[in-house]
Amino acid sequence: MIQLNVDGIGFVRVDSWDDIESIPGYTEDLHISDDEKLSEVIGVYDFPLKIRCGISTCHQQHNKGYIVKTVSGSVTNIGNVCGRKIFNVEFKEKKKIFDRDLADSGNREKLWLIRNQLDGYDERLAGVLDGNAGAVALERKLRAFKGSNYRIPREVGDFLRSAVRTRDSVIYHSRVATADEVAIEEALIGRRVQRPYYVSEPICVVDGIESLHGDSDLKKILISDLKVNFSRLREMDIDSATSKELKDMALWSGKIEELFEKAEVAIGYCRRFLDKNNLNKLLNIELKRGKDREHFVSVIKESSI
Ligand SMILES: [Zn+2]
Repeated sequence: MIQLNVDGIGFVRVDSWDDIESIPGYTEDLHISDDEKLSEVIGVYDFPLKIRCGISTCHQQHNKGYIVKTVSGSVTNIGNVCGRKIFNVEFKEKKKIFDRDLADSGNREKLWLIRNQLDGYDERLAGVLDGNAGAVALERKLRAFKGSNYRIPREVGDFLRSAVRTRDSVIYHSRVATADEVAIEEALIGRRVQRPYYVSEPICVVDGIESLHGDSDLKKILISDLKVNFSRLREMDIDSATSKELKDMALWSGKIEELFEKAEVAIGYCRRFLDKNNLNKLLNIELKRGKDREHFVSVIKESSI
């Protein structure tokens, strides 16, 4: 591919080397003299085929290089190493300006494209957020099970925190071991165990625990990230933004689809977790205070879907 910075037009992509050879002043055999200084870097190429370096003393074959213009108006192609060898620091500086302008131009193009689709993106986001089964409603229901402000019994909070941390969401019950179980354990460890001896038994697995992980945070994905950045892009002055602003926003815009997908996955986890039968499994967790259970049953009723 060849990218050229054409006076009065900006950056254009050309596919054929003929387009380079037809630039006024182009020569494939440039004789460098003291008067022949570098004026500007006007293009870059990256080809599967090798192109002969235009400098008369070099003529090495390069796959990649730059198109340069000298003060006398001559134009030729030159490899990166040759450029530095022949035009010294001047080449490095002009190349830097060209590379920056090229990146800015690509980023502007990308951002205008997304900007023109923002109404569609806003609509899509609203579709994910709103409604009875939307992310806002789900996140509100999920809140009781998240963070430190639990409306749920301490034991349930402990279980959920541990399940998130260890990625193990099995609820266990402990009970007094049978005589046989004690005998097996003692045979295994080779000494007598203290009575009463307890064993842990898996009761059930809670689904959708992933919805409580930090990286499934729907508010973060959909509001702090997508919604906020859509507004930023809408208000951004794309034509006069700095290189860094363009680069950052263009990088972010490349993640839009990924963020929507991440939200869909998180919503899936959320639905599995908030499913009534799933939340009811949490009632298997042993509670110290009997009246906590009654309150917790009402929390589940409010939160389940
Ligand atoms: Zn060369």
